[in-house]
Amino acid sequence: SAATPTRTALVTGAAGGIGAATARRLARDGMRVLCVDMPAARPSLDALAREINGSLLAMDLSGPGAADELVDAVRRLGGVDVLVHNAGITRDRTLARMTAAEWDGVMAVNLAAILAIDARLDDAGLLNAGAREICLSSISGIAGNAGQTNYSASKAALIGYVAARAVALDATGITVNAIAPGFIETAMTRRMPLMVREAGRRLNSLKQGGTPADVAEAIAYLASPPAQPLTGQVLRVCGQSLLG
Ligand code: NAD
Repeated sequence: SAATPTRTALVTGAAGGIGAATARRLARDGMRVLCVDMPAARPSLDALAREINGSLLAMDLSGPGAADELVDAVRRLGGVDVLVHNAGITRDRTLARMTAAEWDGVMAVNLAAILAIDARLDDAGLLNAGAREICLSSISGIAGNAGQTNYSASKAALIGYVAARAVALDATGITVNAIAPGFIETAMTRRMPLMVREAGRRLNSLKQGGTPADVAEAIAYLASPPAQPLTGQVLRVCGQSLLG
């Protein structure tokens, strides 16, 4: 029988904690992974791409023309089978002190960049048959975190976006799901003010930090054949249970 063709994955924020774990995990499943992150992250992106025999693109996803550049790279790879929108930022501040730039910056990376990329991939028909799209939301967007109003809002909006996009793509067989991690130990959470860190950690059902590998495992599941009937879902990982 013919060998299964190699699937292509695209992971944004691949130099970060969850992104790198995800790139490694998907490569372990035999995928060819395009790792995308900021120009400043090029050294670790380079090492990662070499390690997993993948490719890399160093770019600011919220910059002008970013979506076009990314879509060109995807076209050269023959489309994408597993799209992981993982790049994300925090600009934590109480609302009273938050600047417009901190609000807009979070929305630009966590939301607008994703919409722009998806719109162009759709236009170009570069989501391959049976593709899986996975967006990194957060428990912060469900339970809320007082020190993260902008971030919570962006991650909640992403859940609505995923729901609408899943319906829009339903007839195509392409699935779109969100992962809502609880508190995961990465550079992002290490940078947080202590109060935000503590509040975030309390949201986890297990009252301890999860690992990037925990999240990568859930992403690998959503990308796997058995997850084919799942779309428009929000999967909480190390997150708050409904019983609190
Ligand atoms: P991280 O800071 O370790 O990684 C994020 C990566 O995204 C970084 O390498 C960063 O350079 C990259 N990035 C940011 N802006 C970018 C841009 N404009 N263009 C290109 N790359 C950009 O953070 P992480 O904890 O691994 O987070 C990954 C995702 O998971 C984020 O969307 C985050 O919001 C989400 N998340 C994290 C946690 C947590 O507790 N760590 C919880 C819930 C959700």
